[in-house]
Amino acid sequence: MKWLTRDGLIAACAVGAGTTWGLGWGGLALLGAFLLSGSLLTQLAQRQGPRRTARQVLANGGVATVAALFGAWSAASGAIAAAAADTWATEVGAFSPFPPRLITSGRRVTRGTSGGITALGTLGGVAGALVIAWLAHALAPRGAAPGLATLTGAGVAGMLADSLLGATLQGKYQCPACDARFERGNTVCHEPVQLTGGWGWLDNDGVNLVATVSGAAVALLGSH
Ligand SMILES: [Zn+2]
Repeated sequence: MKWLTRDGLIAACAVGAGTTWGLGWGGLALLGAFLLSGSLLTQLAQRQGPRRTARQVLANGGVATVAALFGAWSAASGAIAAAAADTWATEVGAFSPFPPRLITSGRRVTRGTSGGITALGTLGGVAGALVIAWLAHALAPRGAAPGLATLTGAGVAGMLADSLLGATLQGKYQCPACDARFERGNTVCHEPVQLTGGWGWLDNDGVNLVATVSGAAVALLGSH
């Protein structure tokens, strides 16, 4: 497996099985569209990320799975729209000719910095949310999925939550010797990295989880 670690593969199977159990083949197809589009964009951007662990898989797909087990098309598709918006924003944003700016202060930051956004990446994120919203409509039983605007809004809300938390509360680390910045605390550069901002326990996986919860919540609220 190129994309997943061994435990990541097990987690992905659980997410797929739970979604299919709760929402049928349409739910699995929606999940598959998110995974496939994300992988294709990653390949287009010619990025070779590390294999996904179970923790990463569950951070992106756990909320959708729980919602699916309750038979909630609205919350599940909102969570998937948020995950897709986030992934598309990252991958499409890699093609931006301009470096990202921090969503909070507008300060220019280096590519890959948490909370950094580009106009192109944001457009890509909206497109990702729109694709999932449209597919959810096509795949869900009549009336089970919220409106296109609500679902797209759910995806965009998740993407914004991700950037806002990434810019503010997510843990940020630095090498004391060379000042290189890192997202993960258990990293050794020249020396073990030190926490320089945010909450040490809130990493990228935690932020992704909050983003998918936000997407699910907006979709739920918007469908009533
Ligand atoms: Zn260093």
